[in-house]
Amino acid sequence: MLPEGPYPIFFENITFAYSKDDPVIKDLNLTLQPGRVLGLLGRTGSGKTTLTRLLFRLYDPQQGRVCLGETDVRHANLNALRSRIAMVTQNVQLFQATIRDNLTLFDNRIGDARIRETLDDLGLNAWLGAMPKGLNTELASEGAGLSAGEAQLLAFVRIFLLKNPDLVILDEASSRLDPATEQHLVHAVDKLIAHRTAIIIAHRLETVRRADDILILEEGRIAEYGSRKALEDDTQSQFSQLLRTGMEDVLA
Ligand code: ATP
Ligand code: MG
Repeated sequence: MLPEGPYPIFFENITFAYSKDDPVIKDLNLTLQPGRVLGLLGRTGSGKTTLTRLLFRLYDPQQGRVCLGETDVRHANLNALRSRIAMVTQNVQLFQATIRDNLTLFDNRIGDARIRETLDDLGLNAWLGAMPKGLNTELASEGAGLSAGEAQLLAFVRIFLLKNPDLVILDEASSRLDPATEQHLVHAVDKLIAHRTAIIIAHRLETVRRADDILILEEGRIAEYGSRKALEDDTQSQFSQLLRTGMEDVLA
């Protein structure tokens, strides 16, 4: 059974490989306390996305376990588990359909008033207003016409319409964003992570600043971990070095 109320998340001695003998996550231990936001950083291929997939049970580790509170995720009902966790991936799946259907995932019980209210909450009314036919705007296949950032915005709205997760995983789009989308995203991320536990794979400094704790992954191991403030104050830390040299150069 999954715990009711706030619970910590434990990654215990996790080793995971997509293919035998080539581990991507190596004996990793991590505890995430409820309500805290973890900023997950690391070079491309270091295992950031993989780690979040284990939490969502897209894969199971070969060694160790992932627990929500006392519950090993392998012993939880999969639907129950996934209804607790909102995952916004780098590539949001979009349908060749209206913005309305893309937001509600074709659930026509969700009325326009509710959609507009949600967009309003997230500060996205202007964004919708800029679409040629508002909610009736047809998206081309694969969301052609939307930037990666806009597609992620759409995924945020989906979460607020469809479920009330207690855990949020955001794998930020790594492409460069136009300033308007960037601003919308920052605002929506704040809403999304308020009063929730979150793991943010951040590519932008603005987003990193939302994190309480920072973990830098290096080839599947923890290179650095600590509170963001402490790591910022420590001029020797990798994290403060990263802030000095710029995220893009080191982590792109
Ligand atoms: P990025 O910053 O580019 O998103 P990442 O830190 O999220 O990188 P992962 O996607 O977790 O890295 O990948 C870690 C390693 O696992 C890489 O070597 C990658 O090639 C490999 N990998 C990722 N997904 C798969 C998969 N589905 N099957 C096999 N190997 C994979
Ligand atoms: Mg990734």
